[in-house]
Amino acid sequence: MTLTKFSEFGLDPQIVKSVNRMGFEEATPIQEKTIPLGLAGKDIIGQAQTGTGKTAAFGLPLINKIDSKKNGVQSLIIAPTRELAIQVSEELYKLAYDKRLHVLAVYGGSDISRQIRSLKKNPQIVVGTPGRILDHINRKTLRLENVETLVLDEADEMLNMGFIDDIESILKTVPDERQTLLFSATMPKPIQRIAERFMKDPELVRVKTKEMTALLIEQFFVKVNEREKFDVLSRLLDVQSPELAIVFGRTKRRVDEVSRALDMRGYVAEGIHGDLTQAKRMSVLRKFKEGKIDVLVATDVAARGLDISGVTHVYNFDIPQDPESYVHRIGRTGRAGKEGMAVTFVSPREMGYLKIVEDTTKKRMTPLQPPTWDEAFEGQLRVATEKIAEIVREGSLADYKVVATKLLEEYDPTDIAAAMLKMLSKEPDQTPVHITEERPLPHRGGKGGGGKGKGGGYRGGNKGGYRGGDRKGSGGGGYRGGGKGGSGGGGRRYSNERKGSGGGGANRGGTK
Ligand code: ADP
Ligand code: MG
Repeated sequence: MTLTKFSEFGLDPQIVKSVNRMGFEEATPIQEKTIPLGLAGKDIIGQAQTGTGKTAAFGLPLINKIDSKKNGVQSLIIAPTRELAIQVSEELYKLAYDKRLHVLAVYGGSDISRQIRSLKKNPQIVVGTPGRILDHINRKTLRLENVETLVLDEADEMLNMGFIDDIESILKTVPDERQTLLFSATMPKPIQRIAERFMKDPELVRVKTKEMTALLIEQFFVKVNEREKFDVLSRLLDVQSPELAIVFGRTKRRVDEVSRALDMRGYVAEGIHGDLTQAKRMSVLRKFKEGKIDVLVATDVAARGLDISGVTHVYNFDIPQDPESYVHRIGRTGRAGKEGMAVTFVSPREMGYLKIVEDTTKKRMTPLQPPTWDEAFEGQLRVATEKIAEIVREGSLADYKVVATKLLEEYDPTDIAAAMLKMLSKEPDQTPVHITEERPLPHRGGKGGGGKGKGGGYRGGNKGGYRGGDRKGSGGGGYRGGGKGGSGGGGRRYSNERKGSGGGGANRGGTK
């Protein structure tokens, strides 16, 4: 794979400067393929999974084309959700920093008069959600007659959310003489039809899912009964001690219950789903990004496309119904060149779905035995030991040494060390919690679904698997690999403080 340096695209030097400042060294595959076509003025359909750098793929050509002396909005980017609109606008702002362009995000749930004032200040780039863009068009506070580049980002998601009509209405107000770029993780028929109607001879650029998932993410599955899922999750968290983890649940209720239950067991967790207010979702995400929350519990919709970096572990509390969303979920980890680990819980009746997912990703997941209580406890001790060792290595203990010497005179050193470990660890928490059982997915995947997990379905060795021969999931090896880089922020893993009302309390009103 020959990756291109950003200086080789013939971009404006100011833009290359901004890209360098962002620390990008080489273009990602989708960027490598898209940027030259974009610079040549072509219409492009780009298909690649989340986290592959699509924003810069369309953003760089678009920024390059903007004439900062001209008035009016020159680029319009339509995104499905407020979070994504904000995220895209922030990325474009950074990419356009040295060219000193004006980027504005417009989305619902935020003060419209302030947006109107900002629109009057002549942003060259506007990023928005369909509803709010239309609203501004109707109020004549957003004029699109100077738009030269139009981007539909996460088009399939906009389709899922029912924005097709809005998008068509917006497209009608944008000049025909324009460049249209469409990005989507999947290409269902209706998206293809939009492309045919609204794009001119588009070039299709695809980066295969396979390349992305296989590379950096270790994928495991645990066969577990619905009722035992939560205990297994707690123990895995103890054993793997992830720095930043996302737990995916199938329903909103599940997200609420799992995040509350994690909280009860002393993990720093919060949930996000579509029923929470915009303000609440943003604040949870911010805390997660800042590392103030260790475990984010989310539905697919709430988490889709969000750029959250540094996620080390993804736990699929429920296996997703369709393989595409599996790929999206695990795409939250291992981003931008980092390694990640994904663990999928599969109830015995859902083993058929596991097969479907594996067929899609073309990669077998390694089975993992649920850790035992003892193993969870060992995991705790390991984390505590690492903490102590790190403090010793750091030094600067002079202030403590006099008292330490006294302690050693009085007590057995092993006892002292054991006491420290006891203080720093906790026994695996068995606080009873209530999780409503979800009905298993409808039976799928051919014969004998239930029994399949025994191994019958996985003939042949472990080619392509990461850990040689670990297919039997004998324990050991598979659990580790979590805590690496684990130096992060000392004690933040188990905070004893109970965070306020945990979840719901603050959320008035709906999202829509
Ligand atoms: P997508 O839209 O495909 O989900 P994003 O555009 O949100 O992906 O990019 C994901 C993350 O990767 C962002 O934090 C972005 O800054 C970073 N990124 C993008 N391109 C590169 C690159 N060439 N090198 C390193 N990081 C990059
Ligand atoms: Mg994106």
